[in-house]
Amino acid sequence: MRKYVIMGVQGSGKSTQGAMLASGLDLVHISVGDIFRWHVQNHTKIGAQVRRIMAAGELVGDDLAEAVTAERLAQHDWNYGFVIDGFPRNRRQAEFFLESYDIDGVVHLDLPDSEVRRRVLARRLCSGCGIDYNLIAHRPKEEGICDVCGGTLVTREDDTEEALAVRLHDYHDKTDPVLELFARKEYVATVDARPGKEEVQEDIRTRLGLPAYKG
Ligand code: AMP
Repeated sequence: MRKYVIMGVQGSGKSTQGAMLASGLDLVHISVGDIFRWHVQNHTKIGAQVRRIMAAGELVGDDLAEAVTAERLAQHDWNYGFVIDGFPRNRRQAEFFLESYDIDGVVHLDLPDSEVRRRVLARRLCSGCGIDYNLIAHRPKEEGICDVCGGTLVTREDDTEEALAVRLHDYHDKTDPVLELFARKEYVATVDARPGKEEVQEDIRTRLGLPAYKG
């Protein structure tokens, strides 16, 4: 059983690297941000509660974030383990998490704020299947259309200058201390998130002592 946490500022590739890490190792990839986006898209009660908060780039309240995460993990469909991204994001969430789950490693995707801004403002998301594109590094073949499902590409509501400033501030204020907490327990592998996604994934796997990524 392997349990990993992926941390990193927005646009550092948490979801992409989380999915790549899970693939081939039979791990379940859990993205807390994706769960909240699913609720918003499907107009659930939780979606109504979090929509404005997310669009403003703010963090959802700890009670709800913890409940959603605990409920997802309680499904126990992760026989061989999981890779979770987007949780924990502050000290309280970290304590909650460590009370229930022992973790094998924390991957910290390190990206300078200037690069975050460049990446996030170029990010597009398929409204059909949810795949991430980037107008700098990963352009769709046809402008505005998903290569995989033909869905329309949209900008995430929280990928604006204003929301990004809030998220970056929150990250350094609330999430950096979590990294320090994990680092004291010697869990953290800090990986340079600037190279291409395959290279970053190789680096992660080397640092965690895992078999090479096969694509
Ligand atoms: P992400 O896709 O990880 O950037 O998450 C998108 C948004 O979902 C965040 O800006 C928050 O509003 C919300 N969110 C995701 N994970 C958490 C969390 N652990 N605690 C609070 N809010 C979260």
